[in-house]
Amino acid sequence: MAVVIKAECPGCGVVRLATRDLTVRVCTDDGSSAYTFQCVECGAAVHHDIGPAVCDLLRSAGVQRVEWRWPAELAERTDAPLLTVDDLLDFHLLASRDDSWDAAVAALLDGAEHPTA
Ligand SMILES: [Zn+2]
Repeated sequence: MAVVIKAECPGCGVVRLATRDLTVRVCTDDGSSAYTFQCVECGAAVHHDIGPAVCDLLRSAGVQRVEWRWPAELAERTDAPLLTVDDLLDFHLLASRDDSWDAAVAALLDGAEHPTA
């Protein structure tokens, strides 16, 4: 017997979905979860945050679970100096030269000062 799940689309109201129409998304960084689906009537991408109980219920009904992580950029240092207009100009000049890109990247990776244009 096929499972029918009722979910709410902001535009269409309650829609009926099969388990294959939904995905449970679990963030492995904070444990939050949500279910997502593309509305079968209007095509909108719909997302609803859910708690562990609803997550377990949907999983037991056969809904696919997908884990995701926060972008790695969030773990980057926040005390780094801000990018300045001079930095952008240096980058532009460096990128516009045909002969210096590889050497400049290698120098930056070695922790050396970048070459002047
Ligand atoms: Zn809809």
